[in-house]
Amino acid sequence: MPQHFLLSAEARNLSPIAIARMSEYEAVMTMKKLRWGEGKDVICPRCGKKHEAYYIKSRKQWQCKECNYRFSVTAGTLFAHHKLPLRDILFACSLYVNAAKGISALQIARDLNVQYKTAFVLLHKIKEALKVHKQRETMQLSGVVHMDATYVHSSQKPKNKKSERVDRRLKQHENPLKRAILVIRDSFAKQDDEQNTKQIGARNTIAFIAKSENSKVVNQLANKHITKGSTIHTDESPAYDNLIYFHDLKRVNHQKEYRSDAGVTNNLAESYFSRFKRMYYGQVHKMNNTYLYEYANEIAYREDTRRLSNGVIFNDVVSKCLTSLPSDDWRGYWQGNKKRVETLAA
Ligand SMILES: [Zn+2]
Repeated sequence: MPQHFLLSAEARNLSPIAIARMSEYEAVMTMKKLRWGEGKDVICPRCGKKHEAYYIKSRKQWQCKECNYRFSVTAGTLFAHHKLPLRDILFACSLYVNAAKGISALQIARDLNVQYKTAFVLLHKIKEALKVHKQRETMQLSGVVHMDATYVHSSQKPKNKKSERVDRRLKQHENPLKRAILVIRDSFAKQDDEQNTKQIGARNTIAFIAKSENSKVVNQLANKHITKGSTIHTDESPAYDNLIYFHDLKRVNHQKEYRSDAGVTNNLAESYFSRFKRMYYGQVHKMNNTYLYEYANEIAYREDTRRLSNGVIFNDVVSKCLTSLPSDDWRGYWQGNKKRVETLAA
């Protein structure tokens, strides 16, 4: 049997210990490279001039030769006005990257020995960067595409006394916080020596949050994100019925089988849900609907990068943070400036 990718040496080229031992200067230079690239040039966030600005070592800042503006490596980014040393931020990022099923704020708070709220905001800033970058891409999937949904927060906690309990299967007793997570994934196809096409896992993943899995939401998302004429694998839910007009629709009936005789599965969607639920039950425990999309998108990112080494993912995550603007939702969070609207697809 071939060795599992994650056990190979190539999968492991990031050292949290080495990051924890960095000096603050080394942390600044690591971030500089991830923000502006190799070489001596930096880009002034005020006038946009790319050049070799003066570096003022005592302040860990650059001074623009054009407009004299002084700026740090985090100026104008999500990490602007940070209180933690940059080395600690990089260390947290490395722990985040290595946690394949996500990591809770409580755990990061212990690992860094910082307050829970500091860890909470830091982790959400990383999720914010992943979200901003996901939304910048206009993703259109084609070929073989798997689409499905799962529910979270389905039912309310039953009352203590049996006499006070309600039939939770009834619509009127449904939890108002119930949400559907919809996922669309396309797959890698490879041809073997005999020219047979073989599917070898998912490539791109897009996740959405909706109040329910219904045909209106499904049609809207498919119109926007799936090229007409694609092959769509899904389950027996009637929400997907209309896709048949524009796509080659293939179904698997999960009440009967996980793989139909014709070889139709919905496994790409299922493996996404599997990782999502492991994060939910095993790490985060509580997910507020306000941030549900951010969690769902984080798992989409973790799934899509599952075959990359942790060093590559680390560089990608940090550079995404350093190329995202300061976020209104995460500025002064604990002073009461909170995001109040959830990100719903429809
Ligand atoms: Zn300037």
